[in-house]
Amino acid sequence: MPNCTALIVAAGRGSRFGGPLPKQYALLSGRPVLWHTLAALRAAPGIDRMQVVIAPGDERHYQASTQDFDLPTPVLGGTSRQLSVLNGLEALAGEPPDFVAIHDAARPFVQPADIAACLEAAAALGIDGAVLGVALADTLKRVEDGGVIAGTVPRRDLWRAQTPQVFRFEPLLQAHRAAAALGATEETALTDDAAVAERAGLKVVMVAGSGDNAKITTAEDLRRASTMETRIAFGFDVHAFAPGSGVVLGGVVIPHAQALSGHSDADVALHALTDAVLGSIGAGDIGTHFPPSDSRWRGVSSDRFLRHAVKLLAERGGRIVHLDLTLICEAPRVGPYREAMIDSIAGIAGVGHDRVSVKATTTEGLGFTGRREGIAAQAVATVEVPRT
Ligand code: MG
Repeated sequence: MPNCTALIVAAGRGSRFGGPLPKQYALLSGRPVLWHTLAALRAAPGIDRMQVVIAPGDERHYQASTQDFDLPTPVLGGTSRQLSVLNGLEALAGEPPDFVAIHDAARPFVQPADIAACLEAAAALGIDGAVLGVALADTLKRVEDGGVIAGTVPRRDLWRAQTPQVFRFEPLLQAHRAAAALGATEETALTDDAAVAERAGLKVVMVAGSGDNAKITTAEDLRRASTMETRIAFGFDVHAFAPGSGVVLGGVVIPHAQALSGHSDADVALHALTDAVLGSIGAGDIGTHFPPSDSRWRGVSSDRFLRHAVKLLAERGGRIVHLDLTLICEAPRVGPYREAMIDSIAGIAGVGHDRVSVKATTTEGLGFTGRREGIAAQAVATVEVPRT
């Protein structure tokens, strides 16, 4: 039986993904996308070894994603996908496998049986490679400038090429070396290995995929693919009044006969919301991240605290479902500023207005808020995070 090494291309920066992490390291159902991809490849009959190609600087993310696997040192990628694959092939060339199965790290749903089918097809007599793909189901249109349809493209014989793409190792290495010698730029580089093989005159066949082999391209793809759980967390804060001429609530400046005292801008509303969001992921409280002893936070606008909490949530693949805020004070009156506060909080948290609620109440003259000594705020954050 011929041996086959899986070469996993994880060197992309994922400009369309937009998250804090490259998509291959983002969490899918509690584990990095790359972890799922490696698990699928390891389960495929015929794959003997795995080699990952990563972007320089991603070593820490790689280590965190691959602890469950026995892997050689990752190869560093180049300035295009084509050059990243070439680097990977050159790293294997010292001890060349019979076949190489090149696979995108961002395709974690690949079925082990489909990988095996590609290997079997590539190993057929007179064939150099095999590509997993899907026949086109949608009608194809050619569209001119201005969006006018210029014609319908016959879709018969048209397929979408995915990965894995399995090739006899030596001919593919030669094809990649020849393609690199032509000096393709980032723009003109070939976008899959079958194109490199085709240019070299190799014979490559298409294998119909059996399952969902979707590529994770956007954060929305990741959310759709993850099993999410809902979490609800609470935040509370109080700031005392001090001499001044206005308060900041929810990022909105409200004229008032007093100000709120505090280390930052004393935005009690954003502080309660920040603690609620941090609580949803068990990430401590606002003081953990922005200690009052640190002079960097003196007088700063509190929107940065909430932004930071939302970023931590996003880094775990989570998102805010709803934020509910209650302000407790006799004055100032919140009602006239409610819509502005909703706008402000929605903007800071990166959610729609319909996902933010601002309420206010008094304590009927009772207690410290009733004595107009300060303002209290309660917040409830409802979030979705990948199930772990
Ligand atoms: Mg506070």
